[in-house]
Amino acid sequence: MVCMLMKPLFITAILGIVSLSFAQTNLSTSYILRNSEDSVFQDLSDFQKKVMCGGATEKPFTGKYLYNKAEGIYYCAACENPLFTSTTKFDSGSGWPSFFDQIDRNAISKREDNSYGMKRIEIVCAKCKGHLGHVFEDGPEPTGLRYCVNSASLLFIPKEKK
Ligand SMILES: [Zn+2]
Repeated sequence: MVCMLMKPLFITAILGIVSLSFAQTNLSTSYILRNSEDSVFQDLSDFQKKVMCGGATEKPFTGKYLYNKAEGIYYCAACENPLFTSTTKFDSGSGWPSFFDQIDRNAISKREDNSYGMKRIEIVCAKCKGHLGHVFEDGPEPTGLRYCVNSASLLFIPKEKK
């Protein structure tokens, strides 16, 4: 009897701790698994689907936007939600396009990623939930953040030249 009572209490306590820690780090708990059959992902290449739906990472120093220094906006490759501006892009030396801030505080959702024995924060498009990369706390001022993003998850539209 005690055991039967203890179990739900224990689970409730664990859930409480989990939701509390999510709230403290501003992580989304409404994360939805990505289905590559979803129409939003249908026009992506097979490799882009592996990255955006399966969470794969492109090899460092291979992405097409790594050295892009043009002015413009980086959109989600799947749903074209605006994610970053070129003004926050910096050379992190990591081999992936890096940004110190998102374009808008609601553009990107974050969640804990404990895969590969590492504790990381995954970043996904807030709109379609497509995988973008990870965010680390070793970026430059003013945010101190480094959004490490796969080029495969991005679509860059240059600012129109006058
Ligand atoms: Zn998206």
